[in-house]
Amino acid sequence: MMCEDYVTASTVEEALATLASLRGEARLIAGGTDLVIQLQRGERNVRCLVDITRIPALDDIKLDNSYIVVGAAVTFSQIERSLLIREQAPVLAEAASRVGSPQIRNVGTLAGNVVNAQPAADGSIALLTLDAESEIANLTGRQWVPVASLFVSPGISRLDASAEIITAFRFRTRGPREGSAFERLARRKALALPLINVGVNVLLSADGTHVREARITIGPVAPVPFRAKEAEATLKDRSINQETIAQAVDVAVRESKPRTSLLRASKEYRRELIRTLTRRALLRAIETAKG
Ligand SMILES: Cc1cc2nc3c(=O)[nH]c(=O)nc-3n(C[C@H](O)[C@H](O)[C@H](O)COP(=O)(O)OP(=O)(O)OC[C@H]3O[C@@H](n4cnc5c(N)ncnc54)[C@H](O)[C@@H]3O)c2cc1C
Repeated sequence: MMCEDYVTASTVEEALATLASLRGEARLIAGGTDLVIQLQRGERNVRCLVDITRIPALDDIKLDNSYIVVGAAVTFSQIERSLLIREQAPVLAEAASRVGSPQIRNVGTLAGNVVNAQPAADGSIALLTLDAESEIANLTGRQWVPVASLFVSPGISRLDASAEIITAFRFRTRGPREGSAFERLARRKALALPLINVGVNVLLSADGTHVREARITIGPVAPVPFRAKEAEATLKDRSINQETIAQAVDVAVRESKPRTSLLRASKEYRRELIRTLTRRALLRAIETAKG
């Protein structure tokens, strides 16, 4: 028996009250694709699991003025199929479609992905590329914070698991001349760790000849999902040509710190992947932005 009790919450307040009453001995569970493995391995010790997947308000993808709002318990399969997300945030739809296998995507959630805090988590990479925020609820209220502020180190989130719940994510709707793309390479097409994954979002000038702003996120090349901010700065207000792209890609390679890993590959090979995948994602994001 992994833990004594399993509670299915029907509201966020109920889930928060259960967490509070068990003072650190309860933990939220959504798809369970990370947590159940950690419990089986004895890496976590909890008395009670609080299931949040039956809370109706957490299961929605909606347009709210200039934001797309994705509920915390929305699964990767829902994201992958959502026409709104495919149209507004291709980087997120593409990242969701690359996670694990259909079985994992059918239950795995964006919030679980973020809280598990892995530097190459596909959902986290896409959310950072979109400059997304997450809504955090505790007993005193709710507030929006940048998703980027939630990562501390591999496997460690800033969220207080004994008292806080992510209820939703939000990011701005896609503007005119804005586009995004996701690229990933793994040893196999499915059920494999990414050797490198990259998300890119670009905003172009009205005539489509210049990059106004770019966001580039790369994993796993640092202890947390990594925004390649120097490469982003290289692209700002530059005209779109082979030289600009090559320069930005060079800077992205230079500022990333991939490591040699038995599970992944040598750092030299992974550097070449950063080069290839960042270039591909940039070119595809620019194409999407041009429409
Ligand atoms: C075979 C396999 C393949 C996988 N492949 C990939 C892959 O390709 N890419 C990838 O990125 N990941 C992959 N994963 C990891 C995993 O599927 C994802 O990280 C998934 O998004 C976790 O979501 P979940 O709903 O299952 O989280 P859970 O396991 O339910 O929870 C994970 C953590 O998040 C907390 N939590 C969950 N929801 C909330 C919330 N709303 N608020 C606060 N805390 C919360 C839980 O308490 C727990 O600590 C894989 C896992 C497996 C087992």
